[in-house]
Order: sequence, then C-alpha cells, then structure tokens
Amino acid sequence: MKDSYLPQHGSTGYRVTHYDLDLEHRPSSGRLSGRATLSAVAGETLKSVVLDLGVFRVDRVLVDGRAARWTHGDGSLRVRPGKPLAAGAVFTVEVRYSGVPRPVRGIWGDLGWDQLTDGVIVASQPLGAPSWFPCNDRVSDKASYTITVTAPSSYAVLANGSLVDRRVGGSATRWVYEQREPMATYLATVQIGRYELVPLPAGQAVAAPARLAAHAAHDFARQPAMTALFVELFGPYPFAEYAVVVTDDELEVPVEAQGLSVFGANHVDGRRGSEHLVAHELAHQWFGNSVGLADWRHIWLNEGFATYAEWLWHEFADRVPAGVSAARAHAALSRLPQDLVVADPGVRRLFDDRVYQRGALALHAVRTTVGDEAFFVVLREWTEKYRHGTATTLDFAAVAQWHGVVPLDGVFRDWLFSAALPPLTS
Ligand SMILES: [Zn+2]
Repeated sequence: MKDSYLPQHGSTGYRVTHYDLDLEHRPSSGRLSGRATLSAVAGETLKSVVLDLGVFRVDRVLVDGRAARWTHGDGSLRVRPGKPLAAGAVFTVEVRYSGVPRPVRGIWGDLGWDQLTDGVIVASQPLGAPSWFPCNDRVSDKASYTITVTAPSSYAVLANGSLVDRRVGGSATRWVYEQREPMATYLATVQIGRYELVPLPAGQAVAAPARLAAHAAHDFARQPAMTALFVELFGPYPFAEYAVVVTDDELEVPVEAQGLSVFGANHVDGRRGSEHLVAHELAHQWFGNSVGLADWRHIWLNEGFATYAEWLWHEFADRVPAGVSAARAHAALSRLPQDLVVADPGVRRLFDDRVYQRGALALHAVRTTVGDEAFFVVLREWTEKYRHGTATTLDFAAVAQWHGVVPLDGVFRDWLFSAALPPLTS
C-alpha cells in the first residue's frame, strides 16, 4: 500500500533488499557523484521500475547489468527494462548520477543532503532521501545498506552501520560502512565534517569539532549509563553501533538516523542542558529505527515513545517520577487547542509537539493502568516482536492488551483516538 500521508513517494510494485551506494563528494564545489545499486524483488509484473530521485544528471541506468531506458523528472526516475520483470523476480538496478544535491523542500523545511558551513549533514525525515540517492522512498520498505563515501582526507565521514574499511589515498579517503540490519530510507545518513573522536566510557564516542570536544565529553558522559538503563527497560540494543555527531553549526533540533544521532553545537553547553534530547535520540534506536513505522500516520510510535524515554531517564537517573513529567506535560497541553488525534494527526502535524507529549502521556496511561511490571514487559515484547520490522498503532494496542489484565480499550480510545485531552489519572 502507498503511504497514507506521503503517497507521492515510494513504489508498491517492488521492495528493495539492499542498497549499495558508492559516492564521491567534493566539499569545494558541493558536488556529489555516485553509483547506486539496488537489489530488489518485484511484487507484481513490472514494465517499469519507479525510483525516487531528486535533481541530478543521470548518466547511465542498468537493470540486471543491461542498459535500460529511463525518464527522469519531478523527483521520479522511471526505468524501463528491456523486457518486463515477472512478479517475484529478483533484480538489480544500477544508477550512475551526479550533481550538486538540493534538499527536498516541503512543509518541514529543507530535507536531505545539505551543506553545513564546512561539511555535510543528511537529515531526511520524512522524505529527504531522494536528495542524495535513488530509492524506493516508502517508510515501510526497509533494506540493508553498504555506504561508501570518498571525500578529502581532512574530513571525517560517518554513515550508518559499522566502518568496515577506510583507505587513505593521495588526497582523499574512502570510507566503507555496512548497515546489516534493515533500515528505512529516511534513516540513511552521511555526515561529513572536521570531526575528532571524543571517547566516552564503555567504548562509546562522540564525533565533534575540536572546539566542542570538552563540552561534548561532559554532556554525553552519562550516555553509556543511559544505554544500560534502556537495555534493561526496552530490551537488547538493536544495532551493532551507536555513533553521535555534534556539528560545528547550530541545529534547530537533533536528528535521528539508524545507529547514529546528530546534535548541533547549540545542544552542547558543558552543563548537560540537552540531556533529555540525548535520551530521546538514543531511544529512537528501539522506537522508530528497529521497530519502524508501517505508515507515517503511526508517528507517535516513534515520538511518543522517545519522549516517554526522556521521562524514564529522568525518573531512573534523577529520581523525578514520570508522573511529575506527565503532570507537567498535561498542564501544558491543557492550554493548547485539542484538535489533534494522536493516532492519526494528519500529514501537516506529523511533528507537532502535541504528538510527542500526548503520545508519551498515552504510554503513561497504559503504565498506570497495567502497573509497572506488565508495562515494561509490554515494552520489551514490543521491541522483540517487531525488531527490525514495521508496526502500527493497533499492533501496539494488541501487545499491550495481551499483557494487561484490565481492558485497555478506554485508554486507547481516550488517549490515542480522541482529540479531547483526557484527565490525568495516576
Ligand atoms: Zn524524536
């Protein structure tokens, strides 16, 4: 099915199993040239394969190694293989392309590959991925990735997954990252900058500009303890890596990617002033990245859970009960219009703060209804059952009800499917 919020992106005719991206970036000109090889499976007979791809010059397209015809415009690359692909056929599409990437403009601002003052940031949620690679840009179509980036040796390059090779040439370095666990296109990322690696306890590290290294070391120092707490509460960490990047530029909000989060210089102050955001982004690895969305309308499964994780960190680390955070959020929400349904906020309100706060309150209502023991069993069951998959609001309701001895219909109806703000119970 097409995504109900973003039907203009993504194809339902096939699914991608692996992206092999081999990219070269020149910071001086901003130019990106690349070869993307998609391994895919046809879901139906395909006369053409439609990929999402922004404004680039396309130089060559091959299907199963053979030259194919294509047309490219309005963000779509329509590829016509020599003969139709049969339903169930496994095939590859190779695209060679180049240009200066342009962010995808929309109601959420500029998305995707973007220039920093001195480097590159990729922040695609929800539809910026075609700004840097051809893809099936549908949130529920997850694939593994190999991301190879060649850039001048004075820059560090980070991408999703494990660094499996790094070759220093004359003036450029080639970095190869493997993301083995399935990943949604919007979570694919490349970060390029003059970063140094700041070690944290327990083998974690932050990539930051030298001028911010000391503050970053302090502000992220509790992240290993946070990870340990979340593993206890949410289940095993879902990926091989967790990298953090702090950019030299300020960012409006931090950015989540799979196995990686990006913070702005303004989120590092040497006083842990943004530690709740550190918790929020880390929690997305379980909620949003491993357990992905079957459709964007279920966005609260990402944001409500990540917001509740902030409250949980506050509760366990700072001994401020989640009920206190919940009461604060409830008071703030009660002063705002009550015209948003958390389980289906509408595309324009995908990132409305009320989705975050009411989503977290919905989880708190489940917790106070079923009790702590059952609640954390539900969270762990959720991350296990849908690990590296996709899920819906009703899937969550089913998991929660399975472990809740009392009926939860009323809780879900009031907190997720009604616009009016219910009273807070504890
Ligand atoms: Zn978030």
